[in-house]
Amino acid sequence: MKELTMAIVGYGGMGSYHAHALIPDAAHIHLKGAFDIDPARQQAIADDGFVSYPSYGALLADPEIDLVLVATPNDRHKPLAIQALNAGKHVISEKPAMMSPAELEEVLAVAKDAHREFFTHQNRRWDPDFRVITEIVESHSIGDVFRIESRVHGANGIPGDWRHYAKYGGGMIRDWGVHLLDQLLFLLDGPISRVTAETSTILGNDCDDGFTVRLDFASGIRCVVEVGTTNFIPLPRWYVKGTRGTAEIIDWDLAGEQVIATGVDTTAPAPIKAGVGLTKTIAPPTENAVRHAALPAGTPLAESFYDNVHDVITDGAERIVKNEEVLRLLRLIDAIFQAAETGQSVGFE
Ligand code: NAD
Repeated sequence: MKELTMAIVGYGGMGSYHAHALIPDAAHIHLKGAFDIDPARQQAIADDGFVSYPSYGALLADPEIDLVLVATPNDRHKPLAIQALNAGKHVISEKPAMMSPAELEEVLAVAKDAHREFFTHQNRRWDPDFRVITEIVESHSIGDVFRIESRVHGANGIPGDWRHYAKYGGGMIRDWGVHLLDQLLFLLDGPISRVTAETSTILGNDCDDGFTVRLDFASGIRCVVEVGTTNFIPLPRWYVKGTRGTAEIIDWDLAGEQVIATGVDTTAPAPIKAGVGLTKTIAPPTENAVRHAALPAGTPLAESFYDNVHDVITDGAERIVKNEEVLRLLRLIDAIFQAAETGQSVGFE
């Protein structure tokens, strides 16, 4: 098996996470070194036992490096990826791949000319909670899924420094939004006919500190995607409705359940008192009408992100994260910005 040697540009939070947590698990990829413009991070690279290159040029001039990970602020992905491709390196970009679909098309053209591979780290396709939702949709355990609500709620405002500024690619649409939208595009078949969006800027930054997006798939499935940084009481991570039941995943520890109609008891539930009124609409179903089921284990993906990168480069294997999928994701993000800006829902595909 051919081994690949790798380097990282941008050794901040995520660059060093790749170094310590992700690359060591790759069967045939070895990290040699990294470059960061910040002298303190250059020292961290050396302290962590890697080669601390004095410049990006020096990193790219190292003939042992096959593959470069770009893990800088988002606005730097394009120039650094193009430089690496032109130096004959394969490239992984952190998400969002680029600031716009046009930027990604430009980078893919450079990759094609250079006969090098370009990848985007859409790692949350591997998240256990998303694998559980995938199994619920594919197994029809709650019937045909017709509504998916995917949320990430925090109460700490926009984290870090550059994420507060639009010019560096900040904001939550380009942060968590990229992940949550990518998951739904990966999971659900068919075109998205309409996109509706609102953003929040209540913290006073020049980019969104949260958003709510509605995607209407042509299949009839409707999705709500929401990220918040001012939610002191978070809503569940996933809330999914099917024709025979409802599923919920509350948190990252996968607390949650499926509640599934049994179809054996059609007795109308007794009305309950709600507020000062009486209602049958929201009365709990009778005991035999539903069963409570544990969440499924989750459908695994064929291999890890890094093993797939290795196999694509060395063996022409099929990609798990395809560039045309990432291009579609960036187009969707453009449509979301347009819908949020105009206050109009926009046609997409
Ligand atoms: P960070 O601010 O912690 O780190 C960025 C690093 O890049 C800093 O150390 C900075 O000095 C360095 N840098 C900036 N410009 C540079 C240049 N021209 N050359 C070399 N180094 C440069 O940011 P982060 O949280 O690590 O985010 C980095 C990237 O990773 C972003 O694109 C972000 O969206 C992505 N990210 C992805 C995930 C994920 O789960 N996939 C999670 C977090 C961040």
